[in-house]
This record gives sequence, structure tokens and C-alpha cells, in this order.
Amino acid sequence: MTVWMAGAQHAPTQRLAGEEPALAGGILGIDLKALAANWQRIAAQHPQAECGAVVKADAYGLGMEQVAPALARAGCNSFFVALPAEAERLRALLPSARIFVFSGLPAGEAAFFHEHSVVPVLNDMAEVEEWAAYCRRRELRLPAALHVDTGMNRLGLPPADARRLAQRRELLECFRPQLLMSHLACADTPGHEMNTRQHALFEEIAALFDGVPTSLANSAAALAWPQWRQDVLRPGIALYGGNPFSDRPNPMQPVVSLYATVLQVREVKKGETVGYGASWRARADSRIAILGVGYADGICRCLSSSAEGTAQVFIAGQFAPYAGRVSMDLLAVDVSHIPADSLERGMRAEILGSHISVDEMARWASTIPYEILTSLGQRFTRLYTPA
Ligand SMILES: *Cc1c(COP(=O)(O)O)cnc(C)c1O
Repeated sequence: MTVWMAGAQHAPTQRLAGEEPALAGGILGIDLKALAANWQRIAAQHPQAECGAVVKADAYGLGMEQVAPALARAGCNSFFVALPAEAERLRALLPSARIFVFSGLPAGEAAFFHEHSVVPVLNDMAEVEEWAAYCRRRELRLPAALHVDTGMNRLGLPPADARRLAQRRELLECFRPQLLMSHLACADTPGHEMNTRQHALFEEIAALFDGVPTSLANSAAALAWPQWRQDVLRPGIALYGGNPFSDRPNPMQPVVSLYATVLQVREVKKGETVGYGASWRARADSRIAILGVGYADGICRCLSSSAEGTAQVFIAGQFAPYAGRVSMDLLAVDVSHIPADSLERGMRAEILGSHISVDEMARWASTIPYEILTSLGQRFTRLYTPA
């Protein structure tokens, strides 16, 4: 196991239970050195572009307060969040970084963006008009990003609106278009035909906004198409060690590890059951370890097993399958094959780490690493390895 260093947010004299590994159900390790290396790796593949970072949803669950400053120290200066409230938190951490808000300009809230020096991503004509009107009233050309929808049909100006807007100089001159962006629907599958279509449409529209810097790539696109011309990259998941691809090996360094505390080791007789719903039944006399983590900590209840589970932990040098339902605070694992004398109360089991990747856990849960990371709970002792 790596050498840990606790995130020193509180005075060392004031011991909070959550910061004391023995008093928490699990230890969440976040390797800021690997995070910085992942950012640098993507940046190095695009020497002509500026590598930004997406830190929405509390930096994908890993803690914006630690992650954003670590990325800034690695050289990142452009950050993307989803919500104005996230931008406000980030501004307090990084007084001079560029901060973009994907979700756009909420009606009547232009002053928030102005006062916090935060850049709204304008997603439709109503937002463009409102930002322009605010800038006219203040006689200030404040920055904004323009989001063009090239096929996702989620947020962004439809291409026809974007083409018309490009002709409306009087409107564009009210503010400072600082970035023209679009988002790919299928970048996780680089062979998907939608990628080339969206890229071509984006290039065509970008050509109408002469001089406005462009941004198209999320993690997968930044890794898959280093030859695409653009000015700013927007990686998220790859920085945090998750695989941005659904059909390629993960090229990034892992960032997250999670160790759960063994609260009890117990013998279960053949025919007895374990946990809620009595869904797991011992086929022979068995040994069960009870760990102090559950679905309230982000261990999805969907990982529950009835017979031979697919989800596993790594404990005492061996894999051990989940046994029965994942409860809110507890997880039972079948350790019958592990000698009793190598198991003890207080030892730790790897939930995520060098034997179990976040991508593998996502596969077991029929989801993506993004959801595993953003579901991680708030009750762990968090230990940040400094960069
Ligand atoms: C979340 C998000 C990203 C980052 O995507 P990853 O796949 O995590 O790299 C980039 N752009 C937009 C618009 C997003 O919403």
C-alpha cells in the first residue's frame, strides 16, 4: 500500500472521527500524483492546445478542494464545472483560474457570473440575448462560451441558430466569445460514425466564428484524436483514472483506492443465510467477513449476490466474493477459502485498488466508472497522496 498523507483541512489537535481510519468504515485513497501525471499525459499529446480539466460533481467525487489545486499546480488554468454553485466553490480555491459553467446562464442570474468572474456556457439564443443585454447595460464586454449542439441533442445552440448567430456581429460584439464548444455523443467508441459527423459539423461552424478558440474533446476524444485541431481540451474521467473508452484498454494511471474495515469474522453453518432477504445461503459450513461499508458509501446495492457473486473484494491476499445483499452500512463477503488465522477484526479489505479497478467494479455493476466515482460516499477517511 502507498504511503498516505491525510488532507490537512483541520488543525491536528482537533481529531474528527472521519479523519481517524480506525473510526471510519473505510479509507478512500486519492493519489494526487497520479492525477497530475494523467493530466500531464493528455496535455503532452496536444502541444498546440491548452489542456483544461472538468471538475464537476466534486471532481467526480474525489474532492474539488484537493483535486482542483493539485491540477492547478500541475499547470492547468481552465476548469469546467456543471453548476454555478460549483463555480463559486472553485473560485474560492483558485482566485485567478478560468472557470466555465456547462449548464449555462440561469434566467436573471447574469450578475452572479460577473461578480465571481465565472464564464457561462451559453446554450441557446435566450441565454445569448440575456448575456449580451447584461453586458450592454454594464458597458462591459464580459467573456462567455458558446455551445453548439452537433448531434447530442442535450444542450447547445442548434446548428441553424449558430449559423445565424455568426452573422449577428452587433450581438456578438456586446460580449467576448471566449470559447466555441461542442460535445461528442460517442467518443467512448472511437469507431462510431457519429464522431466523424460531429467533428465535421463542428469544424464547419467553427469556421464561421473566426478567431474564437474552439473546444471539442472530452477525455476519450483527446486520447483518440490527437490530430484534431482545437484550442482547449476538456478531459474529466481520464484524469481520475477511469477508462474513457468502452472498447479499448484503459491507458490512464489509477487514482482511487478504497479499503474497508473488517468489523467481524463469523462462522455460518451449512443452510444458514446471510443478510437481508436471506438471499445468500451457505452451501457448506462457511466463513463470512463483515465489512464496514455499504450502499450509503457508494457500494451499489445492485452488486448484491444471491449465489456465486461476481463482485469481489481482495482480502488477506485472495479474492473473496460478496455474499448476499449489500446493506446501507455493511457488506458481507465469503472468506471460507481463507484460513481463519489470516483473518482478523480491524484488518482491511480492498474494495478498489491494485487488484480491483474502478472499471471492473463498474462492469460488475453494469455501469460506467463515472457513476462509481461520483457515488463514493462522504463517510470515508480520505487520504490524499500529495503530488
Ligand atoms: C463531463 C463533460 C466533459 C468531460 O467528459 P469525460 O468523458 O469525463 O472526459 C466534457 N465536456 C462536457 C460538456 C461534459 O459535460
